[in-house]
Amino acid sequence: YDFLERPLFKWGVCFSGKKTGIMFQDITTLLLDNKAFKHTVDIFVDRYRGMDISVVAGVEARGFMFGTAIALAIGAKFVPLRKPKSCQGRVCFNGEVIAEAYELEYGSDCLEMHVGAVEAGERAIVIDDLVATGGTLSAAIRLLERVGAQVVECGCVIGLRQVKGQRRLNGKPLYILVEPR
Ligand code: 5GP
Repeated sequence: YDFLERPLFKWGVCFSGKKTGIMFQDITTLLLDNKAFKHTVDIFVDRYRGMDISVVAGVEARGFMFGTAIALAIGAKFVPLRKPKSCQGRVCFNGEVIAEAYELEYGSDCLEMHVGAVEAGERAIVIDDLVATGGTLSAAIRLLERVGAQVVECGCVIGLRQVKGQRRLNGKPLYILVEPR
């Protein structure tokens, strides 16, 4: 994949909140390059097509951008894993949810999933833009396993090499497309 040799992502700096001054991998440069974005989605689609996956669980918000495209292409349903903080008091889900809290490098957060979105025995993948400590993905795995789903793999566009523990995902395989320097 020649396009992966190009600098698809930029390190940016956060300008707001508790994360001010923290370096951040910016994926919007990839979204602006329609060919590279399509190639990126295609790589995940080629990997997961034919694996009998019926659930693509995407982590809010950047996991939605890749996860929905992958779900449509492999013929699976898309299940949003939402962060209640992002809803800011508005209704995230129209119905009952289950939640899992997790620690982040800079604070803590929570993921929620609609009860009934996933059934016991379904084969699922979890998609996010980036894995650092693996805390977010491990909360996603816990949510899916609580309802009896089988998490086949977690897939991320970017993996931060320097952050230890990104492979501590309850033994689940982790697929990473690029590891920026
Ligand atoms: P972890 O839970 O693995 O420590 O952090 C991963 C989560 O934080 C992902 O949901 C990801 O979107 C977000 N995140 C952490 N650092 C970065 C970053 O540098 N760039 C982007 N795009 N997301 C990040």
